[in-house]
Amino acid sequence: MLGLAEYHGERIRAGARRLSFAVTHHSGLTSYNVLAERKATLPNPTGKAVIVSAHYDSVPGSPGANDDGSGTVLCLELARVLKRLPTQQAVRVCLWGSEEYGLVGARHYVKQLDEAGVGRITGCFQNDMVATSHPPAGTYWLLSVDGADNTTTAAVNAAAHRLGYTDQTKGPTARGSSDHEAFFERGIPAGNFSWRGGEAPSQLEPFYHSPEDTIAQNVSLERLQVSLELIGCALYDVARRK
Ligand SMILES: [Zn+2]
Repeated sequence: MLGLAEYHGERIRAGARRLSFAVTHHSGLTSYNVLAERKATLPNPTGKAVIVSAHYDSVPGSPGANDDGSGTVLCLELARVLKRLPTQQAVRVCLWGSEEYGLVGARHYVKQLDEAGVGRITGCFQNDMVATSHPPAGTYWLLSVDGADNTTTAAVNAAAHRLGYTDQTKGPTARGSSDHEAFFERGIPAGNFSWRGGEAPSQLEPFYHSPEDTIAQNVSLERLQVSLELIGCALYDVARRK
């Protein structure tokens, strides 16, 4: 597999015709998912669980502050905040490895679930690029693979109404290309949540997958805060359901 950054694509489109590569071949690599579960504090006879997730890898050459360090810290902060709150369902905090190589970690996770395990998961909130400071990326998109509303997108829209953020949110809109796709493929309600340009979810910041995706250049604490509030409220809402 050979990856090209958005920046290199732009150079090629701008007329660069000679390319030279220094290639290192890595094989037999190991990747890890980091998984934690806070058990339900109220009776949970059918073992229901809701997932909040992000991928903690980044593309080679990019520090990955927004993609997806932002989603990773969102998960860690929600784990801290939700720690002592009573819930009907278990809360799983899942950090996926190797998303950028084709959703490898999340696909591995859903593959090892049996049908009963699939049925116990009430939803997966995937957080991928939840804090960019790029000014035009001021829309918080609710993305499901088929564009249909599901438990996760409905809960985030309801949270946006309660918190007064509906002027900044859009969706559900159809888009895959993150770990929610692995859950959708097994029929588990899932959504991906992220900041993008207002016209279409394909409008990403110019620092996407580049060496400039750093905390200093590509993270807005204000947008991260909104992401935390929306997902925190939506996750807790689902976790309280019998
Ligand atoms: Zn990502």
